[in-house]
Amino acid sequence: MNRRDLDFILYEVENVEALCQTERYQHCDRATFDAALDTAHQLAHSHFHQYNAKGDRHPPQYCQETDTLTLLPEHVAAHRAYSDAGFLTTSMDAEVGGSQMPVAVSGAVGLHFSSANAGFSAHFALNVGAAKILQHHGTDEQRAHVLPKLLSGEWCGTMCLSETHAGSSLTDIRTTAHPQPDGTYKIRGNKMWITAAENNFGGTIVHMVLAKLPGAPAGTKGISLFLVPKHALSFSEEGVSLGERNDVRLGGL
Ligand SMILES: Cc1cc2nc3c(=O)[nH]c(=O)nc-3n(C[C@H](O)[C@H](O)[C@H](O)COP(=O)(O)OP(=O)(O)OC[C@H]3O[C@@H](n4cnc5c(N)ncnc54)[C@H](O)[C@@H]3O)c2cc1C
Repeated sequence: MNRRDLDFILYEVENVEALCQTERYQHCDRATFDAALDTAHQLAHSHFHQYNAKGDRHPPQYCQETDTLTLLPEHVAAHRAYSDAGFLTTSMDAEVGGSQMPVAVSGAVGLHFSSANAGFSAHFALNVGAAKILQHHGTDEQRAHVLPKLLSGEWCGTMCLSETHAGSSLTDIRTTAHPQPDGTYKIRGNKMWITAAENNFGGTIVHMVLAKLPGAPAGTKGISLFLVPKHALSFSEEGVSLGERNDVRLGGL
C-alpha cells in the first residue's frame, strides 16, 4: 500500500485531523493516527503478508475425531501479535477499554491487514462485531467479563446469520430456539459460510446466532439473536470461567 496515497486521502481529502477538535476524539492527534498506521504497516508486513501464500498452500486442517481445527503456527502467532498490539480496540469506545479512534483511521489500519492477507485478516472483524453487540445489548456480566476477553483476543467471536438456503434473505432462516425451564434456550439448526467459526487460538468462541422462537412473527421481527458459547460460561464474582463443551460442531470447511 502506498502510504503517500493513504495520507492524501485521510489528511488532505477527508481532513481527519479536524475530528480531533470534537469531544469524542479530543484525545487524538495526527501523531496518534500516524503511530497506529506505522505499527499496522510493520505488523501487516511481518505477520500477515509474509504468510499469505503459505496460508494458501497450507489451509486450516479440521480433524473430526478430535474436533479441532489447526491453523498454521504463523497465523496463530499473527493473531496474538495483532491482539497484543491493541488493534481489536482501535475504534471501540474508551469506556470499554478501546482506543476510540475515528472509523476512517481504524478503516485505514484494517486496510493494511486486509491488503496483506485478505483471508486471514477476516478473523478480526468478527471479534469487534461481537464485542459491539455485547457493549450495547449484553447483560452486565457479559459486558464485564466476556467483552474484555473479545477485545484482548483471548476469546473469539463470530456472526452466524447465513444458512444453506438463506443468505441475503434472513427472514427465511430455519434455525430455532426453544426456551427451557432454566431460562436457557435449546438452539437447533445449520449455519453456513461462518467466518472464523473454529480456530486453535486458545480460549473459546462466542457465536452470535440468529434463530427464531416458536410462534415468532413472520419477517425480520421474528428473528432473535442468541449468544452461543463454544463452552458453557459460568459467572462469579471473580469473573467468568469455561465449563462443558457445547454441541456446536464444525460441519465442513
Ligand atoms: C467470504 C465470505 C464470508 C462470509 N462470512 C459470513 C459470516 O461470518 N457469517 C454469515 O452469517 N455469513 C457469512 N457469509 C455469507 C454471506 O453473508 C452471504 O453469502 C450473503 O448474505 C449472500 O447470500 P447468498 O450467498 O445466499 O446469496 P443470495 O442471497 O442467494 O444472493 C444471490 C444474488 O441475488 C441478489 N439478491 C438477493 N436478494 C435480492 C433481492 N431481494 N433483490 C435483488 N437482488 C437480490 C444478491 O445481490 C446476489 O447477487 C460469508 C460469505 C462470504 C463470501
